[in-house]
Amino acid sequence: MKFLQEDSLHEECGVIGVYRDEKNAARHAYYGLFALQHRGQESAGIAVNQDGDIEIRKGMGLVADVFNEQALNELQGNIAIGHVRYSTAGDKDVRNAQPLVAKYKKGDIGLAHNGNLVNAENIREILEDNGVIFHSTTDSESILNLIARYSGKGIENGIRNTMSLLKGAYALVITTGDSLIGIRDPHGLRPLCIGKISDGYILASESCALDVMDAEFIRDVEPGEIVIINSEGLKSIEPANMCQKHLCVFEHIYFARPDSVLDGDNVYDFRVNTGRLLARQRKIEADMVMPVPDSGIPAAIGYAKESGIPYGEGLVKNRYIGRTFIQPTQEMRENAVRIKLSPLKKNLEGKRVIMIDDSIVRGTTSKRIVEQIRKAGAKEVHVCITSPPVQYSCYFGIDTPYRKYLIGAQKSVDEICEYLGADSLTYLGLEELREACGYKDQFCCACFDGKYPMEVPINEDDL
Ligand code: SF4
Repeated sequence: MKFLQEDSLHEECGVIGVYRDEKNAARHAYYGLFALQHRGQESAGIAVNQDGDIEIRKGMGLVADVFNEQALNELQGNIAIGHVRYSTAGDKDVRNAQPLVAKYKKGDIGLAHNGNLVNAENIREILEDNGVIFHSTTDSESILNLIARYSGKGIENGIRNTMSLLKGAYALVITTGDSLIGIRDPHGLRPLCIGKISDGYILASESCALDVMDAEFIRDVEPGEIVIINSEGLKSIEPANMCQKHLCVFEHIYFARPDSVLDGDNVYDFRVNTGRLLARQRKIEADMVMPVPDSGIPAAIGYAKESGIPYGEGLVKNRYIGRTFIQPTQEMRENAVRIKLSPLKKNLEGKRVIMIDDSIVRGTTSKRIVEQIRKAGAKEVHVCITSPPVQYSCYFGIDTPYRKYLIGAQKSVDEICEYLGADSLTYLGLEELREACGYKDQFCCACFDGKYPMEVPINEDDL
């Protein structure tokens, strides 16, 4: 399912898992979800396991909307899993909020999922043909069903059998019986890391969630790995099938928080580096380098350092507009840029500015921003983008429009520049992106080069 109206790539979801001796695991999960809020603002939930009985609280909105002191006090248990959601598969409905909890032959099971399966429809059809009734429209419920179905001979067996059927992106945290379990898909498309606290362990989509709990970062869950945490400690089950790692490169470019470390890379440093590489790629005469806040900030700093052109702020971001901002018409969506970002006239008047942003999707937002900067008095506006043109849709849980709506797939760079009304447009080259990635062959870059790490069900609108 793709949403065709918005002009940005959207974060997927965020997951957190807490295992500790104390019964207040939910409170830790709550802090972790706050740190992961940027990964999803539509719904939030926490499920707590106490001696095998799972209690859940979830709802629509931000973490702060769903939980209060009383709700947290009612969630008592030493294992907690949590989720913040941005919907890409399944409708915006509280029934699709996670974690999902079910009862099966061996007791209660809870699951939270970040990612998207490419064979979700097939799996669901087979399950439905076998009489399975679904409560949600998410592919995560199919995963939960499969694990329950195959766990007759133990949860490890159930997970392994389920993983052999799943194709696509998944980082999962699961609680069952007395354990917290973390799983990453064999390509490692979505991140998941492990942290240590004095009396237990944390699993989190990003390391920034470990920092708020004062947890020590241990390592990332490896692609295809299953980690099982219980009173005996942490046990790792090696991947059944080894695949090349393909972490989504957009985690580094835009989705992840800059204070996170993903698969060994510091996200902030990566972004500074893309700015430096852009400055080397094309020399531009200008008076000021400015970011489109927030993701453009580290890259603009890197660009300024490399080029010697002063860094300055040209746009002020309204930080109190969430994804819930209502924009029912195209006109309102376009005007929303004005509400979200205001030009700083004093800094822009009479200047030749270089504007640094992370990506261009449909182009409408960038066009509005260029217009605003010009109106505020800038003499020249040079647009620099810290990624190559987005030309292909994502099938792994990132909400991109169909190809026919991707300006990078439909127009040349010169045509896009003209559409934006910019004086010049520079995209980071694919080779420079590889350099920013340290030439590590461990990223999915399919939205730029169309080389998907697995077969994908291409829609005719994406041809
Ligand atoms: S296709 Fe693009 S957005 Fe999707 S996982 Fe690959 S790099 Fe990330």
